[in-house]
Amino acid sequence: MEERGMEIEAVKKLLQDKKRKDMAYEKILTSMCTYPHEIAAYAHEMFLEANLGDSGLFLGAKEMEEEAVRMIGELLGNENAFGYISTGGTESNIQAIHAIRNRKRRDGLKAMNVIVPETAHFSFDKIGDLLSIEVRKAALDDELRVDVKSVEELIDDKTICMVGIAGTTEFGQIDPIEELAGIAKDRDIFLHVDAAFGGFVIPFLQEQKYAFDFSVEDVSSISIDPHKMGMSTIPAGCILFRDESYLSELAVLTPYLTTGEQCSLLGTRSGASVAATYAVLKYFGREGMKKIVSECMELTRTLVQGAKAIGVSPVIEPVMNVVTLSLPAAEVDRVANALEAKGWRVSVTRVPKALRLVIMPHVKEETVKAFLDDLEAVR
Ligand SMILES: *Cc1c(COP(=O)(O)O)cnc(C)c1O
Repeated sequence: MEERGMEIEAVKKLLQDKKRKDMAYEKILTSMCTYPHEIAAYAHEMFLEANLGDSGLFLGAKEMEEEAVRMIGELLGNENAFGYISTGGTESNIQAIHAIRNRKRRDGLKAMNVIVPETAHFSFDKIGDLLSIEVRKAALDDELRVDVKSVEELIDDKTICMVGIAGTTEFGQIDPIEELAGIAKDRDIFLHVDAAFGGFVIPFLQEQKYAFDFSVEDVSSISIDPHKMGMSTIPAGCILFRDESYLSELAVLTPYLTTGEQCSLLGTRSGASVAATYAVLKYFGREGMKKIVSECMELTRTLVQGAKAIGVSPVIEPVMNVVTLSLPAAEVDRVANALEAKGWRVSVTRVPKALRLVIMPHVKEETVKAFLDDLEAVR
């Protein structure tokens, strides 16, 4: 830091220079984030200083958090679920496992493990590290859903939690949550559903319905991210528990604040993105959300049809707005690099190796057409 500060206009100029280096979302096909809706940006700015770490001072922001939690719970089959607006899927996943870990630790269990699918988001590797829990990875079936037999084989008397993913980050696939719930019931194991991406997509799919949320008995907790398909601002996630006692496992006393205790991982935390989440849910309603998802799914189909027409097939028929395209293994990186040279941002999956594209609301029909032309040219 310099001894003397700059003129405000000079700082703004610096910011503009940096802004030009950031990519616009238009040609980004790798991200699960997108432009927040204008009402989200408006709400975010209005509540910029609100700190939900000390929520007794910001009663309006606190009310919006409670109502957002209620609305999201209702969307996920339980308007009486308990939770809070987190910073994203990572924090939500941490807190779910943290809660059941605390419960079992109080019961005297040691050397615990959780079972996640091989397709689990890397946040579970952080969780293993942070909470000193073994993370066991279950194999997948041909359609890249978790293989329930493999999950069963990994269970032992130290297993405290199974995780199912509703919308895998790499393939957009949905694990068989009802089957996992059956095992959870039989063996009395906590079942966490990671719907960070899929939570705002699956309820609005037209062609097929999937049971993945609290409507499935024995689903214990769910992660869902307003800052992905929820069109909110970053950072906005949500963790919900069916049973309030699990949220209480996370509570710590907060002397000298306006509230007696706190269940969030963070202390000081943004009321702005909570306001944004609340505003978007109010603005869109189910009808508006359904329209966004329908448009993304329509373009997903256009993309897959176009790819097939030039001889490139998807790894799985897309379940949601994530497309993975099969190319000869030796070709994937070359094609990805050639597309990047044309200004696109694409990614490559691990196993099986494929080209991965996420069709977020910023992707338009012209974008898909232009992308297909470039794909044809470089493959
Ligand atoms: C994105 C994602 C996460 C992580 O969420 P962040 O908001 O990036 O912390 C976790 N799980 C799944 C399935 C995701 O798609």
